[in-house]
Amino acid sequence: MTDYDAIVVGAGNAGLTAAATLQRAGARTLLVERHNVPGGCATSFRRGRYEFEVALHQLSGIGHEGQPFSLRGLFDELDVNLDFVEEHDLYRIKVPGVLDVTLPADWAGAVDALEEAFPGNKDRVAKFFDLVRTLTFWQITAMRAKSADGIDPMLFRYALRPTRDVLDEYFDDEGIKTALSVYWTYMGQPPSALPFQDMALMLFAYLEFKPWHVRGGSQAMSTAILDSFLRAGGEVRFNTAVTNILTHNGAVTGVRLDDGSDIGAYHVVSNASLPTTYGMLPDVPAAVRDDLSTRRLGVSGFVMHMGLDATPAELGFTTSTSFVNLDADPERTYAAMHTLSPARGVCVSSYDVAPIGFAPSGATHVSLMTLQYGDIWSKLSPRDYARTKFAYAETLLDVVEHLTPGIRDAIEEVDVATPLTMARYLGHPGGAIYGYDQDATEGWLFRDSERETGVPGLHLAGSWAGAGGFQPTLQAGVRVARRLLRTGVRERQTQGAGR
Ligand SMILES: Cc1cc2nc3c(=O)[nH]c(=O)nc-3n(C[C@H](O)[C@H](O)[C@H](O)COP(=O)(O)OP(=O)(O)OC[C@H]3O[C@@H](n4cnc5c(N)ncnc54)[C@H](O)[C@@H]3O)c2cc1C
Repeated sequence: MTDYDAIVVGAGNAGLTAAATLQRAGARTLLVERHNVPGGCATSFRRGRYEFEVALHQLSGIGHEGQPFSLRGLFDELDVNLDFVEEHDLYRIKVPGVLDVTLPADWAGAVDALEEAFPGNKDRVAKFFDLVRTLTFWQITAMRAKSADGIDPMLFRYALRPTRDVLDEYFDDEGIKTALSVYWTYMGQPPSALPFQDMALMLFAYLEFKPWHVRGGSQAMSTAILDSFLRAGGEVRFNTAVTNILTHNGAVTGVRLDDGSDIGAYHVVSNASLPTTYGMLPDVPAAVRDDLSTRRLGVSGFVMHMGLDATPAELGFTTSTSFVNLDADPERTYAAMHTLSPARGVCVSSYDVAPIGFAPSGATHVSLMTLQYGDIWSKLSPRDYARTKFAYAETLLDVVEHLTPGIRDAIEEVDVATPLTMARYLGHPGGAIYGYDQDATEGWLFRDSERETGVPGLHLAGSWAGAGGFQPTLQAGVRVARRLLRTGVRERQTQGAGR
């Protein structure tokens, strides 16, 4: 008899849903988290009279009660009750002097808004949206199908084409291409590298099922999933890191914690990064080592969490989500993410246009985020770090002044997170927030580390083993747990782990 049937390493989205699914199915589960709160990225923290959302800009996967999307069912199954706050616009995108468009979160409204901003494109946008819907339908069908028989060939024509190519096929106007593709930042890959199926899925998810926030922020969601796990009898240890994954004859037998104690289990589900997870094993299978040695760390983020002493209306915020880019060309915005040159694109989340409940009355909670690769920050000397961080933060404010003139004057509290902050709190190399780069060669489609871990009894759940982002990781935890439950949770795994 082992101590536990399963030990889950890490209480990020996927770790939490995996642990709750396992425990609620009767598997004796221990959840181990190095931080002092659940959530990984999905947390909040307090400064002064403000509470700051760490990561959630727009949640996909919810849908309305009459037209629910997958996460509503997932939360219902885990008996997790949350109050969702709907955003009525997808976003406002502003390129100073070039374009300023707000896209409502519905298909017809978005067509009209784009026609108003770029007259003469109505039919093209309608056809493009048809493509988005049809491709997404076939993409989902293909994911569930056992073979390619019966799948519309349009999927094979469009799925892996760069988003840029498809936009070029449908539109001449550069402005409309920029306005329609700014969600590329949510995947961390520019339109020239982002497979169109990923862009289509994202547009479909937000246009058809709307973007959402959670009242109480993503921390409320993480805490509620943890509660579901605890109510079912699960055990959790915070402020505790797993340092080793123990094996016997190559199969998992448990973990070692940072206090030196060993705990036995038939299965280990890791929500930690792949380099961390495999680095904790005494031996890494050659195939996994070869795979990992060719992978590229994904992008991290630079975030300013701000408490502003003014209402959203006084500040001029009309939408919860805005993108301000200095270039209409996303490739230049992306190139700046590899350098410390001034930020060229910022995602602005104003959490009180549709209030999530954090900001005191009369005040506004805003986050400014630009993507940044971690390696440039890790090369800074400790002496240069603080100076660089605050100088770089000024460049985000410079960009956002184009959206909210005078925003600096309203700042009451501010906290700045760099890729090194992400690395410190998450334990992920490079502070990567979506795992590996999410282009066609690195993305979930061809690098499915989740299904085949190479180590019996080891299971991987989260952004490093599949797709990054809230919806994918919440779903990954449930999927991996169910797969594990199907293999027989109290059987020592000797082969075929992760199948
Ligand atoms: C600033 C920011 C903004 C974002 N915006 C969005 C957005 O708007 N929409 C969206 O969909 N996605 C967004 N994301 C991405 C999304 O939050 C992540 O992709 C997702 O939350 C990752 O979930 P995960 O399950 O992979 O776990 P993670 O959140 O990566 O958590 C992993 C957990 O494992 C723990 N851990 C690691 N090693 C160990 C160990 N050895 N022992 C014990 N515990 C360990 C860590 O402490 C952490 O809690 C954002 C992320 C950030 C940081």
